[in-house]
Amino acid sequence: MMNKIKKVVVVGGGTAGWISASVVKKVLGDFVDVELVESDAVGTVGVGEATIPPIRLLNNMLGLSEADFVRETKASFKLAIKFENWRVKGESYYHTFGAPGKTYAFCHFHHLLKRAQMELGDTSNVWDYDLNYLCAEAGKFGHIKTKDPVLELPYAYHFDAGLYAKFLRKLSESMGVVRTEGFIEHVEQNQETGFIESVILKSGQKVSGDLFIDCSGFRGLLIQQKLNTGYEDWTHWLPCDRAVAVPSERFENTLPYTRAIAHDAGWQWRIPLQHRNGNGLVYSSHHYTDEQALDTLLSNLDSTAIGDPNFIKFRTGRARKQWNKNVIAVGLASGFLEPLESTSIHLIQSAATRLLQLFPHNGIDQKLVDQYNLESQREYEQIRDFIILHYHVNEREDTMFWKDLRNMDVPESLTHKIELYRANGRIFREQNDLFLEPSWLQVMLGQGIEAKDYSPIAKTIARDNLDGLLRSLRTVKNDPVPKLSTHDQFIEKLCGR
Ligand SMILES: Cc1cc2nc3c(=O)[nH]c(=O)nc-3n(C[C@H](O)[C@H](O)[C@H](O)COP(=O)(O)OP(=O)(O)OC[C@H]3O[C@@H](n4cnc5c(N)ncnc54)[C@H](O)[C@@H]3O)c2cc1C
Repeated sequence: MMNKIKKVVVVGGGTAGWISASVVKKVLGDFVDVELVESDAVGTVGVGEATIPPIRLLNNMLGLSEADFVRETKASFKLAIKFENWRVKGESYYHTFGAPGKTYAFCHFHHLLKRAQMELGDTSNVWDYDLNYLCAEAGKFGHIKTKDPVLELPYAYHFDAGLYAKFLRKLSESMGVVRTEGFIEHVEQNQETGFIESVILKSGQKVSGDLFIDCSGFRGLLIQQKLNTGYEDWTHWLPCDRAVAVPSERFENTLPYTRAIAHDAGWQWRIPLQHRNGNGLVYSSHHYTDEQALDTLLSNLDSTAIGDPNFIKFRTGRARKQWNKNVIAVGLASGFLEPLESTSIHLIQSAATRLLQLFPHNGIDQKLVDQYNLESQREYEQIRDFIILHYHVNEREDTMFWKDLRNMDVPESLTHKIELYRANGRIFREQNDLFLEPSWLQVMLGQGIEAKDYSPIAKTIARDNLDGLLRSLRTVKNDPVPKLSTHDQFIEKLCGR
């Protein structure tokens, strides 16, 4: 019989560790103590700077002011990701956080547009009706005060990962989280149950707890090294297994979007911050040597490199159980999906939220554990499919890397989604899928999938009214753009400079 949970030990002080510690302390601090152990000698992975809009819910929940957060973490605003060279070389498209046009009852906007394209020869595209896209291209940003959903401008942030961890540490310690520095050398388990009882530091100090959150990064100190949970490997679908990262000097104008630029055997990220750009190349070690990867990255930087390259190895996939016994793995210890859609920090936030929802205050209950694991698995698989879509549906003929990805078998769940859209123009969001219909639409269109049909509900608009409707929507969407400040002006004003 397991004890009530009175003390939570977080192992690791990277983004995962500090998010987990702050969230648990903030919400359950009256009932549980939280201690975080991290080793300065080991350090953190040092990357992870682009996010998606739900991060704002996390910040709100933690009571952070946007101005403090943006100032302290040297953040910028993110409206979209621009994918370059993915379908073919020389072409690009955006995956924005917005939604094109306006949603009508039972009918997404893209059906109306498809009808106009097929019947009237309309040559506009979904991005012409997307405020996020229009602002991203114009380098504009602002908080649009409106109740009209058509004029919403959903956004996320880019931030400095090191500064973010410091920021959350300060917050967590102010709420009463105890931080212990030291290298964990041993992990003690209960002889009968196999539950973790304590971690022993190099200094001999023992840190005991009832529940352990393993945020030790790729090592998976508790979840893998001690509990041998096992790992589901997805490299056959996502063959990139390395990255090299290097910061470079800032540009005069800070872009309000991330760039994801496809190369011969991988892709490069460019993340604009206030004080520098974050850059990195994600690549397959079967197709590029480390030297080739570094060379590709350095010869595609738009500004001077200002640090040493950081090489990182990874294996795409997930821990078979993200909650095993009294250990919950969060962050890189729980699995890895490459940062193409900036989902890892979101997975940390979502794991921490799920833990709160299923918190085993009376002791570990297997039903709570099973529910947690089921939901984590679904979440990982849905994001996995979305990432595979970018690689698989390509028309690049220039390298084996792209040809192999095009010809590989993909998960049945993804094939179904692609075929449904191709034949009927329909997109359905799976339950709790992180990515909504506009996300799937933009990437399918950007990768070159043409729908052959549209929903008959689009016919409920009189043919003579269709062109006028589209034109007025374009006007409505374009209207706010010239009135907004530039992205840099907005940051300066917000941060009080
Ligand atoms: C190339 C790359 C690019 C990425 N880009 C993005 C992105 O743009 N957006 C995004 O959302 N995510 C991104 N990620 C993911 C993101 O970096 C991670 O999700 C995030 O940093 C969390 O890492 P972590 O805290 O799990 O692990 P780490 O940062 O590795 O932290 C591990 C912690 O465990 C501690 N530790 C380990 N062993 C011991 C020990 N024996 N004793 C004591 N302490 C120990 C370390 O000291 C450290 O504090 C990227 C990841 C990679 C690899």
